[in-house]
Amino acid sequence: ALGCMASERAYRIVLVGDAAVGKSSFLLRLCKNEFKLNSGATVGVDFQMKTLIVDGEPVLLQLWDTAGQERFRSIAKSYFRRADGVLLLYDVTCERSFLNVREWVDMIEDVSPEDIPIMLVGNKCDLRKDGVTSVPTSYGEKLAMTYNTLFCETSAKDGINTVEAVLHLARKRKEDD
Ligand code: GDP
Repeated sequence: ALGCMASERAYRIVLVGDAAVGKSSFLLRLCKNEFKLNSGATVGVDFQMKTLIVDGEPVLLQLWDTAGQERFRSIAKSYFRRADGVLLLYDVTCERSFLNVREWVDMIEDVSPEDIPIMLVGNKCDLRKDGVTSVPTSYGEKLAMTYNTLFCETSAKDGINTVEAVLHLARKRKEDD
């Protein structure tokens, strides 16, 4: 079985979005199945590996966390050039982070002219059950249609849809091959 792993596909996926939307938490949930409330800010770009079975085939994902680099957009840009997909996160309880999605999309298109698949992710959907004011799901869906991206809502805290988000993105990338 290990022999098969050597020939598996490998994709580079980059996580972007405003500070504190939950990029590091998303990765922690996805790769270690853990969550930490008030996790400290990530220093520099970090990456994690995760193998998922996509349409019956193992795909090795190299997931790059750009947390802490939001202010240094020129640095983050270099990560898109060789990316196979982007997870663009906003925080459903932070309208500003949703409004800034546009800027992130512009930046991605600027750096990688070829159509790189994007998954728009509304994170922290668990806070809705506490009655926290949030960006409605329909707004996210509409924006995703405007930019022709995939869309889902997730909770890194409760582990909702994190695997699914990455799986759909990898599947889209695979279709494009
Ligand atoms: P980053 O700067 O985008 O990497 O964001 P972090 O992963 O550091 O998360 C910022 C804060 O939001 C931390 O206090 C996290 O514990 C919290 N957080 C992240 N994801 C979620 C989530 O899905 N639900 C809730 N309730 N809090 C979250």
